Amino acid sequence: MVEVDLIIEAGMALVGRDLDPVTGAAVAIKNGEIVFAGPSRRCREEFCSRRMIERPGGLLVPGLINAHTHAAMVLFRGMADDLPLRQWLEDYIFPAESRLTRELVALGTELACAEMIRSGTTSFVDMYLFEAAVAEVVDRVGMRAWIGEGVFDFASPAFPSGREALIETRRLWEQWKDHPRITVTVDPHTPYTACEELMREASKLARELSTLLVTHVAETQWEIEEIGRRHSKGPVQYLDSIGVLDSPVLAAHCVWLGHEEIEIFAKKCVSVAHCPESNLKLASGMAPVKEMLSAGVTVTLGTDGAASNNDLDMFCEMDTAAKLPKGRGLDPEAVGSKGALLMATKQAATALMRDDLGEISPGCRADLVVVDMDRPHLQPCYNPVSQLVYCAKGSDVTDVLVEGEFLLEQGRLVTIDEEGLLERVKRTVAELGYGSR
Ligand SMILES: [Zn+2]
Repeated sequence: MVEVDLIIEAGMALVGRDLDPVTGAAVAIKNGEIVFAGPSRRCREEFCSRRMIERPGGLLVPGLINAHTHAAMVLFRGMADDLPLRQWLEDYIFPAESRLTRELVALGTELACAEMIRSGTTSFVDMYLFEAAVAEVVDRVGMRAWIGEGVFDFASPAFPSGREALIETRRLWEQWKDHPRITVTVDPHTPYTACEELMREASKLARELSTLLVTHVAETQWEIEEIGRRHSKGPVQYLDSIGVLDSPVLAAHCVWLGHEEIEIFAKKCVSVAHCPESNLKLASGMAPVKEMLSAGVTVTLGTDGAASNNDLDMFCEMDTAAKLPKGRGLDPEAVGSKGALLMATKQAATALMRDDLGEISPGCRADLVVVDMDRPHLQPCYNPVSQLVYCAKGSDVTDVLVEGEFLLEQGRLVTIDEEGLLERVKRTVAELGYGSR
């Protein structure tokens, strides 16, 4: 018998790369790693643990990965809705962001982490401001994150110039490079808010640090026109022409792509963070997901910031991601429920260059979620994957583990004082006068 740190038995688990349903399942964990995943009777023959958790009505799934967000923007949730993108940004979001401080970003990030953990997200990719504060919160609450300081041509609320934001990126990378859950990325904001020189520098830094470059690409029609005016080509062709796509890139949105752009993504090192709810809410359009998948592009899923979603619930995002391409192309098979779940798990792990994430298999890190299936809207259950994508909500999640440690246990947040956090959020927002114009 091999002694392990923890054994979780559940009514069912989605095991392996293919999310195969195993009834009466168990997962054994040692040193934050999955050492067994399969039928519980076999687990009992081979493994023992002083800590056994039983969830007979639970479905064990890989932790969900939110591949694109701006976590602290939860502070602006619902502040302004139903407006054209540029009016929303210029009249509401930018003025609110101009007052951000390191402390506010820490508060917003903790609120976002509480929401994400509660809704089954174990990892997130964050591009924002004052990322030093984001890293500290992530370290403390136990989530896994890829963090990047936003790099702009102009002064951000955090740094006077893009160059200083890149210096901060290098400093953050040095500080966190040995951390088991935090990875620092290089994040030029967009091809129209980071000039060619800054983009080239950002790309050079990402290559030097062997890390991912995260940016927004082809989100709106306006961007296509603007980049066309400046560079006489589309944003994808432009980024390709200056060498940015020659090392790994995670490109958010990618709504306005044609056949040529998709071919470039497929040939180069570009993965896509598809953000369907934000794209719909900001009236940006619908990304050609089916076309990208057929071309072999790795497509992941993100909520974007809560100000344009307005939540960070990846279950809702999967539901939308599965339905949207059916409506767009009148094709019911464009993205199935399994395709949507893979975008939020294994495809995201691939984009993040982490083969040991996104699935419940021996050798993978123990980032796990239990969904309580004993609920009226989840029964009867013929197909657990379809049920997760089309019926389950984040609020059906009862337990969340990252690196084998509980962050949510039987519906209770373990690493966050939720009551105190909510009090602080309400008090701080009232003091700032956010939302009252
Ligand atoms: Zn974004």
